[in-house]
Amino acid sequence: MAKIFCIANQKGGVGKTTTAVNLAAGLAKVDQRVLLIDLDPQGNATMGSGVDKRALPMTVYDVLLESAHIAEAKTRSELGGYDVLGANRELAGAEVELVDQERRERRLKAALEAADADYDFVLIDCPPSLSMLTLNGLVSAHGVIVPMQCEYFALEGLSDLVNTIKQVHANLNPDLKIIGLLRVMYDPRITLQSQVSEQLKQHFGDKVFHTVIPRNVRLAEAPSYGQPGVVFDPAARGAQAYVEFAREMVARIAAT
Ligand code: ADP
Ligand code: MG
Repeated sequence: MAKIFCIANQKGGVGKTTTAVNLAAGLAKVDQRVLLIDLDPQGNATMGSGVDKRALPMTVYDVLLESAHIAEAKTRSELGGYDVLGANRELAGAEVELVDQERRERRLKAALEAADADYDFVLIDCPPSLSMLTLNGLVSAHGVIVPMQCEYFALEGLSDLVNTIKQVHANLNPDLKIIGLLRVMYDPRITLQSQVSEQLKQHFGDKVFHTVIPRNVRLAEAPSYGQPGVVFDPAARGAQAYVEFAREMVARIAAT
């Protein structure tokens, strides 16, 4: 059975897409079968996987509108070694088109049931909002991975997401929980960051992943080459941290 995780945080620019793409490539490196679903109309996870979002015959949009199965709509990230259910601007229209449809928040979940046997991990890159798209992701998932920067407002920003997850858990998806908080773009030389990191550990205990992703320019450069950072420069510290994180995820799943 595939383990399905949303990468979510309602803030933009916190490292969701970087985490989704590099965790996908990291899991592929340790021999896991992975599907990466891009739920953001910006299509950054699609492009960052080396898939041209403008040239896709079908995307997650077609799946949400029930005009395609995942098996038909997916493509392959040859470099990354995983499948991609891509997104482009067309997806922005899905929100409106789904408004008067039945079971609109369960479309992705239903589609994933048919793809369950094909993957070990399904990762869903969510947009930075609590929209119908994000809701489809949260309803489908076993858990949420929350990338966050160790900054002053980090904890405050988390409370909205935690409340949303509680509501989805209570009303739509009893499986849903926070799998863990991933510290990203981390720079231990900045005192505030190590202080916030300590606070996170006090507050959330073992919900904070052991792996820490450092701030690393190679991770930021990789998307402009259409490559996951893990593939673009495997020796870079950021790439190695994401492979380590993939191992940590595999171990966590094995332990549950
Ligand atoms: P989100 O999907 O949450 O909007 P992104 O993953 O797109 O965030 O990251 C925002 C920006 O930060 C991007 O330019 C990305 O390349 C950069 N970035 C993400 N993680 C790191 C990191 N560990 N080190 C350096 N730059 C990073
Ligand atoms: Mg993003």
